[in-house]
Order: sequence, then structure tokens, then C-alpha cells
Amino acid sequence: MKLIIFGPPSAGKGTQAQKLSKKYGIPQVATGDLLRKAVADKTPLGLKVKSVLDQGRLGPDNLIVQLIKERVAKPDCKNGYLLDGFPRTMGQAKELEKMTDIDLVLNIVVDFELLVERAVGRRTCPKCSAVYHIKFNPPMNEGECEKCGSRLIQRDDDKEETVRNRLKVYMEQTAPLIDYYRKKGKLVDIDGSGGIEAVAAQMIKAISLIKK
Ligand code: AMP
Repeated sequence: MKLIIFGPPSAGKGTQAQKLSKKYGIPQVATGDLLRKAVADKTPLGLKVKSVLDQGRLGPDNLIVQLIKERVAKPDCKNGYLLDGFPRTMGQAKELEKMTDIDLVLNIVVDFELLVERAVGRRTCPKCSAVYHIKFNPPMNEGECEKCGSRLIQRDDDKEETVRNRLKVYMEQTAPLIDYYRKKGKLVDIDGSGGIEAVAAQMIKAISLIKK
């Protein structure tokens, strides 16, 4: 099963992807996580994209597509995967189409002001990528990851100014993909304004309806 979780920044793509990944036993392939790891490890790719990430702009298509190709060629992806944060431009969508057939695109729809509140309160674990929110999903001990005990951080790109910039980039470059996948009959809208479990339930229902 090959799925795309689609939606604006902070719509809850990562949180839902982690849940679905566990439920269906397919890996979450998140370009944002792969890029942040490359930056932290100071790889040649990381050095190239650091400033792009910090400013909330998009990395170049050729580098991102290469990153995805390498990731989905790994053995854990042989039964499928869940793309989170990819594709983000029409160029990336066209490249993906050459690579494989996608079963379903889950498009999370959320009001932009709620997104800003969600992003600014988001805290992530630098070690295991677990995601929390100071108001909507706080960890048991403040500032500490429940899974691995690491100190939680606020991502630089979750600062308010960057969040607004990322929403603008989303509207300009990524939102047009909604129509592209809708016309192919592959896209289902998911109301992302509810709680984590309510959103997950809609996704699980949509996945159960995939035509074999
Ligand atoms: P995310 O964690 O998905 O919000 O991604 C964080 C940042 O990584 C984005 O703001 C972009 O700078 C970069 N990025 C992630 N995925 C892509 C992509 N598919 N194409 C270009 N840039 C990306």
C-alpha cells in the first residue's frame, strides 16, 4: 500500500503518519525528517539545504527526488510506504508518477489560523522524531520525550514568522497538487480540525475503501 499524507504545514501529517505507519506496518517516509537529519549530520546534502529549511523555503526538486528514490529503495519499503511531506511541487509529483502508482492521497484540511497555533506550540524529539504540543498533546513530563527521555525542542521552522512563510509557500507551490490528484480520483479530503483520534478514524475509513 502506497499512501500520501497531504496538507499544509502543521496540519498533523507527521502525527497521523506515525499512527498509520504503526497500524499498517509500513514505514513513514518524511522528507522533512530526512532533510533535518542530513542537516544535523552535516552531510553534503545537509549543508546545501540548511538555509532553505531555516527560512521555510522548499529544497530543489532534483535533490529531494533523489533523496526519496534512495529511501524507498530500502528493503523496509517493499510492501509499501507512507509519504509525508512529499510531493510538494508539481515537478515532484510528476517524478513520483514515473516511479510508482500511489493508492490514495489523504488530504488534511485545516483552517490556517489553527495551523499557526499548532505549529508554534509544537515540540519535537530531536532523537526519535516523536511529536508533542504544549496545549493539545503535552508529554507526561514537561519538555521531555515520553518515548526516549530526550529534551524536546521547538524546530526553527516552527517559529511564527517562518510558519506564515511556509503557509504562503504551501499555497503557491503545493496546494495546486490537490486538484491534480483529485482529478485522478485518488484524493480524499480529511477534516483535520478535530482531535488526533478523530482525524485518524477518518483516514482508516478512507484506507479501508481503497479499491483493490
Ligand atoms: P516538513 O517537516 O515536512 O514540514 O518539512 C520541513 C522543511 O523541509 C520544509 O519547510 C522544506 O524546507 C523542506 N522540505 C520537506 N519536504 C520537502 C519537499 N518535498 N520538497 C522541498 N522541500 C521540502
